[in-house]
Amino acid sequence: MTTRTYDVCIIGAGVAGALVAAEAVRRGRTVVMIEAGRRFDIRDRYAQLRHFQNLGGDPWPWYHEGRDGFVDSSYESIGFQYHLEHNRMKGVGGTTLHWEGRARRLMPSDFRTRSTYGLGMDWPFGYEELEPFYSQAEWELGVAGEPGDLDPPRSRPFPMPGFPISVDEAHWAPVAERLGVPLCISAFAINSQPYAGRGECAAIGACQICPSGARYSADHHVAKAEASGLCTLLSETVARRIKVDRSGRVRHVQATTMGGADLEIRAETFVLSAHSIESARLLLLSGLGNQSGQVGRNLSDHVYAGTGGYARDRRFYPYRVGYEKLESLFWYDGEERRERGAIKLEFTFEIDPLQELKDGRLWGTAMALHDRESFGHWLGVAAETEWQPNPDSRVTLHGTRKDMFGDPVPHVRLAFSQTDLRTQARARQIGTWLLNEFGAQDVHPLTNWFGSHQMGTCRMADDPARGVVDRDCRVHGIENLHLAGASVFPTSGAVQPTLTIAALSLRLALHLFGPA
Ligand SMILES: Cc1cc2nc3c(=O)[nH]c(=O)nc-3n(C[C@H](O)[C@H](O)[C@H](O)COP(=O)(O)OP(=O)(O)OC[C@H]3O[C@@H](n4cnc5c(N)ncnc54)[C@H](O)[C@@H]3O)c2cc1C
Ligand code: SF4
Repeated sequence: MTTRTYDVCIIGAGVAGALVAAEAVRRGRTVVMIEAGRRFDIRDRYAQLRHFQNLGGDPWPWYHEGRDGFVDSSYESIGFQYHLEHNRMKGVGGTTLHWEGRARRLMPSDFRTRSTYGLGMDWPFGYEELEPFYSQAEWELGVAGEPGDLDPPRSRPFPMPGFPISVDEAHWAPVAERLGVPLCISAFAINSQPYAGRGECAAIGACQICPSGARYSADHHVAKAEASGLCTLLSETVARRIKVDRSGRVRHVQATTMGGADLEIRAETFVLSAHSIESARLLLLSGLGNQSGQVGRNLSDHVYAGTGGYARDRRFYPYRVGYEKLESLFWYDGEERRERGAIKLEFTFEIDPLQELKDGRLWGTAMALHDRESFGHWLGVAAETEWQPNPDSRVTLHGTRKDMFGDPVPHVRLAFSQTDLRTQARARQIGTWLLNEFGAQDVHPLTNWFGSHQMGTCRMADDPARGVVDRDCRVHGIENLHLAGASVFPTSGAVQPTLTIAALSLRLALHLFGPA
């Protein structure tokens, strides 16, 4: 057993942990980051992209059956499986190695859903508390955007100009104008011009791997922390227990390297940033923070309720015009939100006609003809929907399945409420209406898909009986253990979570280490 001592111990080197690390070393603290996954080198990105696109391989081979196993019972509860192996990444940089970079702020209403609409739960603080940290996060990650009419108020401009809409997306402009539906362009943590030592986007449109480095990933902040000489990264090392002493303070973390060496990591301050599933799992394994019975509950994601159709007389350019940016916040708020969750619309043109042939009805020349005739005629409305906090939607420790260290694997079982089903139904109704107004044919609902945005499991609440962490993201009852990441979100809104994760991490760093 090797014992090491630091000022700060951070578990998980994704964006949540990396930002805390970078802020801690700026204040002269010594930091250790424990990361289960391995390092990926930016110079290998083209090879990873080829492996992914040409061979359909896994670009981030992190998934290790013995170490990262899980059990998912969501098919029984909601009729869909939750493929955790595609919805989170393990590596230095975490899931941002594979994210698409959409970087939006939550709306002010998302912090007050209970008092405004009678649904969900209020956060312990409002949007105005997080606003300065949203601005800081946009400058840290490097976000390109333009303020939209329905966007929340901001104190600082975006660090980079936004991206223009594509020729495909421009087809929606006259339709939306006729219908009185305002459109907007999403902000992205992708360089629209050189920024933070990384080049500008080359519009390759392969952002889940981004060979140019234009799209932000958290390994940049890990590297920044390491460059200070104050941060030690222990990659391929799994934190297995958090240990408290009799006074209730965390004294050390027990970790094991993939080579089998046991470590004892001591520190003054501990930050758990292992993402929603693993943060909850580690608390449960350690028997910590669960006096309320809330650890692991209220697990959510964003369900995309989509609608598709064909425009026979037009041909779009899917996969060839960078990534899609057009959105509408028109159905986000309003009186309807008393009955259903928030809805954000995204517009998409990406469908591979051959993917529709999974049942193998066409072969040979007939298949080639179908591909040629259908390609580029499809368009869709992808509605990102809010998922209400639900105690029955949860992660627990599995009763019998164990990982390679003998620890129980996470058991995921998602659940929808009637409100969630109403939200999804309303989203499809809106999509159907818009596509019919566009003049599309064969308008049809699509099978739900997930945004890969795990949230909840360790929610924030002032009342220790209702949540796992307090307003400072400190685990109730444990003075020196804090959580970073979407696990603490009391509600999920209908925007991608990562900018909010980043803002909360920067707020946590200020709370823990004071001004730089
Ligand atoms: C395909 C895809 C597209 C996405 N697109 C977007 C988008 O456009 N916009 C957006 O906002 N979000 C998007 N997301 C979600 C976004 O990537 C995540 O919200 C974000 O990366 C989470 O950051 P995190 O630091 O909290 O967790 P992670 O990045 O998952 O980091 C947690 C780290 O902890 C490590 N870890 C876990 N357990 C242990 C342990 N016991 N010991 C040591 N280390 C451990 C893991 O290996 C991991 O590296 C997308 C996700 C996917 C998969
Ligand atoms: S379009 Fe290409 S260069 Fe731009 S962020 Fe995506 S992958 Fe990177």
